[in-house]
Amino acid sequence: MIQKEFAIFTPGPVKMSREILDIGAMQTPYFRNQSFSDVLLYCEKQLLDMLNAPKNSRVVFLTASGTAGMESVVMNLLTEKNHAIVINGGGFGQRFVDICDSYDIPHQNYIATNTNLQEIDTRLDGTASDTFIVNAHETSVGHIYDLEAIGKFCQKNKLLNIVDAISAFVTDRVDMQKHHIDCAIVSSQKGLALPPGLTMIAMSPKAIDKINKVRSHYFNFENYLKDGARGQTPYTPCVGIILQLEHRLKQIQNDGGIKATIKKAKTMANYFRDNIKHLPLLAYTKFMPNAMTTLTPTDGKSAFDIVCALEQDYKVIVCPNGGETKHKVFRVSHMGDTDHTHIDKLIDALNKLYEV
Ligand SMILES: *Cc1c(COP(=O)(O)O)cnc(C)c1O
Repeated sequence: MIQKEFAIFTPGPVKMSREILDIGAMQTPYFRNQSFSDVLLYCEKQLLDMLNAPKNSRVVFLTASGTAGMESVVMNLLTEKNHAIVINGGGFGQRFVDICDSYDIPHQNYIATNTNLQEIDTRLDGTASDTFIVNAHETSVGHIYDLEAIGKFCQKNKLLNIVDAISAFVTDRVDMQKHHIDCAIVSSQKGLALPPGLTMIAMSPKAIDKINKVRSHYFNFENYLKDGARGQTPYTPCVGIILQLEHRLKQIQNDGGIKATIKKAKTMANYFRDNIKHLPLLAYTKFMPNAMTTLTPTDGKSAFDIVCALEQDYKVIVCPNGGETKHKVFRVSHMGDTDHTHIDKLIDALNKLYEV
C-alpha cells in the first residue's frame, strides 16, 4: 500500500491537509441532532455559494462514490421520453453513455476529440434534444471543455445542462449561473481534497422540477431533498467526511474564497508546467485544466515505465493511463493540498530520471 512517505500526484484521492487528517482521526459523533443538522446546512449553503447556484437551488448529499452521483442524476432527472446529448471525450464520458444505455435513455453519443467545444454550434444540433451531459474536465485525458460556450448552447436550445464537475470544482471555474448549469456533480476525493465516499449533487430549481419517480430506494432524490431541508439525510451519511467538508469549506473561505483557491491551483499548475519545459515531455492536450497536467514522452520512453520508475526510485506517485494510451501518456494531478515544495519533489525526480 502507498504510505505516507510517498508524494502523491494522483487525480483522486489527492493529498489532504494535516487538519483534515486530524479530523478524520477523531471519534464519529452521533448525527441525528441539531448540531449535525447545522453542519450539513452550512455545507449546503457554502457549496451553492461557491458554485454560484441560482436562488432556491439545493444539494443532495450522497454517501457513495462519484459514479453513483452520475448514475443517480440520470435516474432521477431523465426518463425514456427524454433525449440527451452526451459528450464523450474519454473514460468518464463513456461512463455516462453506458449509464444512459442501462436506463434506456435515448441519447447521442458525441465523440469529442481535439476540441473543447468552444465552437459547439458548428458541431452539434441541439434542436432534437432536451438534455446535455458533459464531464467538465474529462479526467481520463486531462481535457477541460468550454463551459461558457456549452452554457450558451444549452440556453439557446433550452437543454437541461448536467455537468459532472467532480474533477473541476475547486481548481477550475464552475459557475452555475454564468455557465447555465442546472445540475453539478461534485465529489469529496478530488479538488475538495477529502477522503473518498461523499458525492454532492447541486440542482437548480429547473433540475429539481425534473425529478421523477425512480425505481430505487437509496437513490431517490425526493427523500434527500425532504430530509435535507432540516439538515439531515435519509440514511446514515459519512459523518466524518461531512465534518471534514465543513472544515475544508471554512478553509477555502478563510483563504479568500473559491476564486482565490482556483487562482492558486492555476499558479501551481503553471509552476509545474514551466519547470519541466526542458524535458522531453509534451502536453497531451492544449485544453488543460488547472486540475491536471497530462504528458506524452517525446523521446520514445514508455509513459508507464516513467510512472513505475518515479514510484520505485523516487517515491513519487503519478497516474498511469490504461488501455491504448498506457505507454503514451501519464497524468499529474494538481488537486489537493499542494505547494511549491510538494511539486518540487516531482520536478526533482523527473530531472534525476532524465539525468539533467
Ligand atoms: C473521479 C471522477 C468521477 C468519479 O469516480 P468514482 O471513482 O466513482 O468516484 C467521475 N467523473 C469524473 C470526471 C472523475 O474525475
